[in-house]
Amino acid sequence: MGYNRGETIEKSNGMSYEQEKQIAIAAVTLAAQLCQRVRQTIKPETIEKRDRSPVTIADFGSQAVICKLLSEAFPADPIVAEEDAATLVEADMASYLAQVTEHVQALIPTATDQAVVDWINRGNGQVGQRFWTLDPIDGTKGFLRGEQYAVALALIEDGEVKVGALACPALPIDPQDPQTGSLYVAVRHEGATRMALPIAAPGGEPQPIQVMPATQTDRFCFVESVESGHGDQTQQQAIAQAVGITAPSLRMDSQAKYAVVSDGQATLYLRLPSPKTPDYREKIWDHAAGSIVVEEAGGKVTDMHGQPLDFSSDYKMNQNQGVVVSNGACHEAVIAALAVAP
Ligand code: AMP
Ligand code: MG
Repeated sequence: MGYNRGETIEKSNGMSYEQEKQIAIAAVTLAAQLCQRVRQTIKPETIEKRDRSPVTIADFGSQAVICKLLSEAFPADPIVAEEDAATLVEADMASYLAQVTEHVQALIPTATDQAVVDWINRGNGQVGQRFWTLDPIDGTKGFLRGEQYAVALALIEDGEVKVGALACPALPIDPQDPQTGSLYVAVRHEGATRMALPIAAPGGEPQPIQVMPATQTDRFCFVESVESGHGDQTQQQAIAQAVGITAPSLRMDSQAKYAVVSDGQATLYLRLPSPKTPDYREKIWDHAAGSIVVEEAGGKVTDMHGQPLDFSSDYKMNQNQGVVVSNGACHEAVIAALAVAP
C-alpha cells in the first residue's frame, strides 16, 4: 500500500519474493511478445469469419512459455492455468500444435511439439498452500478485435496473492506512443509499479503507481466489460451514479480494467452478475494478478457484498458474487449502494 516501498519484505522463511517477481516479469514479457506476434497475423477476414485460430494459438503458446519458465525456477510449485492441452493433442488439432510450437520456437529455439504439450500440461495444477494462477490470454474477444487483452500471472500463498504480473500489450504506457504496451507488477507490502512493454522500450524502468485521489472528483469515471454478457450494465451504471459518477463508462476487455484503476485512469471497476448468468462464479485467474496490483497501488478489491475474494478454496470463487474494484475512497459507498439496490 505504498509503505515499505524500496525494501524487500521477508517471507516467513526469511526469503523475499524477489526471485518470484523477476521470473514472473520474464515469463509474462515473453508471453506478451508471443501474443503480439500472433496478433500481427490476424487479418480482417479472420475476424469476419469469426475464426478463433489466432487466439487459440496465442493462448496455448502463452501458457507454454510461462509454464516452462515457472517450472524451471520453481519445480515444486503447482500452476493453476486456464488452458488444458487435451484438446491440442486431438488428431484434428495437429496443425494448431505445429503453429503453437513454431511461435514458441521463435522465443525458445529448443521447443518441440512434445515439450510444448508438457509445458501446457504443467498448468493443470491444483490450488494449495502455495501455487501460481495464470490466464495466458485474458480478454480473448478483445485480442481478436484488436482491443485490450492481458497476460495475467499471480503467486498465491496462504490464501493471499503475494506477487502479480499483469501484461497489457495493447494498453499504451504513453498515449503518444500507441506501439508501447504496459506491464504492471506488484509484490505484497511493496507497492505497485508500471513499466513499458517491451521492457527495452523507452519507459522500461518501473515507476510506482497510485490510484486516483479522492479529491479529483472531476476525473471520476468507471470501467466495465465490453461484453454485456459478462456483467449487469444497467445496474453498474445505476451504482456508479449512486456514488456520484456521472460520466459514461469506459468499456474495456480483460484485467486491463484493473490496470486503469491502479494507475488512476479510472476510479472504479464494476463487475456485477449478469441477469442471464446469475450463478456464474468468477475464476481466480481472472482476478488474482489484477487485484494485488490495485491493492498495492492503494485501492480496494472485494466482491459485491464487500467480502474479500477467495483465491484459495478452488479455481472458482464459489464464495463470492460480483467484483468491486476501487480507488479505496469510494469503496464503502459502492458496497452500501449495492446493499440497498433492487
Ligand atoms: P472481460 O474481458 O472483463 O469481459 O472478462 C473476460 C472473462 O470473463 C473471461 O476470462 C471469462 O472467464 C469471464 N466470463 C465468461 N462468462 C462470464 C459471465 N457470464 N460473467 C462474468 N464473467 C464471465
Ligand atoms: Mg480470462
